[in-house]
This record gives sequence, C-alpha cells and structure tokens, in this order.
Amino acid sequence: MSSQCIYSKAVQHERDLGIDFWSAECPPVEGINFIVPNPDGSGTKLIDWAAQLDSNAYSVDQRVKIPRWMAEFSRLGGQMVITDAGIAEIETYARQDDLVIIASGKGDVGRLFTRDAEQSPFDKPMRALALTYVTGMTPRQPYSAVEFNLIPSVGEYFVFPALTTTGPCEIMVLEGIHGGPIDCWADVKTPAQHLGTALNILKTFLPWEYDHLKNCQLTDDKGILSGRFAPTVRHPVATLPSGSKVLGLGNVVCLNDPITGQGSNNATKAAAIYLQSILNHGERPFDAAWMQATFDPFWDYAQRVVGWTNMLLQPPPPFILDIMGNAQALASRMANGFNDPRDFFPWFADPDATASYLAELKAA
Ligand SMILES: Cc1cc2nc3c(=O)[nH]c(=O)nc-3n(C[C@H](O)[C@H](O)[C@H](O)COP(=O)(O)OP(=O)(O)OC[C@H]3O[C@@H](n4cnc5c(N)ncnc54)[C@H](O)[C@@H]3O)c2cc1C
Repeated sequence: MSSQCIYSKAVQHERDLGIDFWSAECPPVEGINFIVPNPDGSGTKLIDWAAQLDSNAYSVDQRVKIPRWMAEFSRLGGQMVITDAGIAEIETYARQDDLVIIASGKGDVGRLFTRDAEQSPFDKPMRALALTYVTGMTPRQPYSAVEFNLIPSVGEYFVFPALTTTGPCEIMVLEGIHGGPIDCWADVKTPAQHLGTALNILKTFLPWEYDHLKNCQLTDDKGILSGRFAPTVRHPVATLPSGSKVLGLGNVVCLNDPITGQGSNNATKAAAIYLQSILNHGERPFDAAWMQATFDPFWDYAQRVVGWTNMLLQPPPPFILDIMGNAQALASRMANGFNDPRDFFPWFADPDATASYLAELKAA
C-alpha cells in the first residue's frame, strides 16, 4: 500500500519503544539524489545532485512490519480485535473506554472528521500514483539513495531500497501529473502489465533509471498498486451521533500526496506526540479540549510538511528554480530536510527568504 520510507527521527521513535525490529536486516537508504532530465530529449541530465543523510532511513514493507507489531502488541497484553469498525462499533468503544483514537487512513469512516478547507488547497487528486516492488536493480553507487527524478510537466519518479516479505528489494514510485503521459494506469490489468508499463515510462523519460532496472522482476504479484487521492487535512476531533468525541491520528487527519514521502513519517511522529500527551494526562478525562491540545503540537510540526509537499505538487515558481540551480551547495541541507521538513522554512517557501539565503551562501 506504500513505499513507507521513514527517516531517522521517525525511526528513533520506534527504537525508543523497542519496536524497531528491522534496522539490522533492512537495506538502508543513505542519501538523496535529485535529478531533472534535459528537456531537449537527449536522454541526459540537466540537474543531478546528491548528498548523504546524516543517519540512515529505512523502508520496511507494511506486510512485514504490521504483523510483527500486532504480535508484539498481543505479547505485551493488548487485546487485538480484527473487525471493520463502523459507527456502531466506535460508539461501543467510546462508551466502554477512556479514549478512542481513529487511525483509519483513507477508509470511509474517516469522513467522521470534517475537512479543514483552509489547510486543504486541492479538492482533487494532483497525481496518478503507481507503486512497484522489484528485485534485480543495479545498486546505486557509491551509496544507496532515494533517487528522485522530476520530469517537468510530466511528473516524478523515485526509487530506493527496502525490505519486503521475500527479503531486500527496491520500490519504484511513479507520480503522473493529472491527464499527462504517465497518468496511464487505467487499462493496466495484470501485475506483468503493471511492471511493463512502469519500465516503458522509464525507458521513455529516464533512460539512466531504465538501465538500472531493465532486468528486474516483481517481488510478488501483490507488490504493485495504482490509484489517486486528493491531499486532505481534517479537523482532529470528531463527534459521534451520541455526542462522544474521538481523536484522529495519521492519514485520517493529515493525508499528504506521497511526492515527498512523508505520510508514515508524520504518522509516526504524531503517534509519539499522542503517546506522551496520554502519559502526561494521568487520570483526568480525555475530553475534546485534551484531544485538540494533543493534536496542536503535531500540527505545529506537520503544517510545514503539508506546506512543503503541496508546494512540490505545483509548477515550480522562479525562486524554487533558483534553489535548484544552486543545489550542489545546498545538497546536504536539502537531503537532510526530508528528516525534518521544518528546516526548509522559510528559505524554500518565500522568494525574499530564498534570495537572501542564496546571497549569504554566495558571499560565504
Ligand atoms: C504510493 C505511496 C507511497 C508512499 N510512500 C511513502 C514513503 O516513502 N514514506 C512515507 O513516510 N509515507 C509514504 N506514503 C504514505 C504512507 O503510506 C501513509 O501516510 C501511512 O501509511 C499512513 O498511516 P496510517 O496508519 O495513518 O494509515 P494506513 O497505513 O492507511 O492504515 C489505515 C488502516 O486502517 C484500516 N481501516 C480503515 N478503515 C477501517 C475501519 N472502518 N475499521 C477497521 N480498520 C479500518 C485500513 O485497512 C488500514 O489498515 C506513501 C503512500 C502511497 C500511497
């Protein structure tokens, strides 16, 4: 369902709880490589910079991670109930329990939470998404990285190493601008057609990426996905028909386009903030004021991630092109910004701040 790469600050939250079971066996993501192809169709690169992350990132397939966490939850005494939770079930939980947190991702029940129109500038999907898990890619040298390719007016492609149910693999993510040449998944019916379509796109637009992958195979028939959704922020506290309040966590309240690969990072950071807020609250009731006060510090952080992600979904304004033109000097900061996108502000968001930052860099 995802490429789920999380950077070191999010990984640290898992380590703090003793539930990072994979860092030793999961192939690390060690850097970020940003590439823009030459628009002349020559199959060469116009922009190509790379930098190492200060600490590794990791992508562990959710089919590996979630079952292991479910087992750990039960081992620690949690009661695991697998059911489709509709309003009736949620009402029952709200009657029985001190606190109900809903983490239903893109599930329909999330409509309990009202859309925050002010924080949701798009009312339709901005990209056609396609995900492909493969083996047999030629590894990037001299260090592994998210290889992020931006093809102007077409879309984006990124690829990086991960751990799946069958062992190490690479995950390819294609993001096609709505109605453009790589928004082309509607007639793809089989896993083999899916892989063929992904490789054809690389052959056409990113021949260096195709060279690395031309002999690859799917990890398994379920290691594919295509679809689209509108990035949406929702108000964090919902009221059930009975009047009981419930709190939203993760994608249900903060759904980003995967272009910046931040959704799992956000969800992990939110979980850490909520946990601390629960522990700090002691025996007092978990009322709507507490729920809002729990969400607020997360939103303090996440509003930057949402702002940065939404910016990248639109055609780049001239000041962003200025940054990209100076990117080698900024490569390390840009790469490590994926770990905490607050560092992109204000210099990646405001033309004046960009100009003065670039002037500072030149003077130095
Ligand atoms: C193509 C793609 C690539 C991505 N790559 C990255 C990346 O590299 N890095 C990153 O940080 N993020 C990435 N993301 C985003 C990331 O996957 C999500 O943000 C993250 O999984 C959100 O976690 P969540 O727990 O909120 O929701 P989900 O992971 O969607 O989990 C929600 C769960 O709730 C269940 N559910 C829904 N409704 C109900 C119900 N009524 N009753 C019971 N269960 C229910 C669902 O079945 C699901 O299991 C990517 C997303 C996509 C689509």
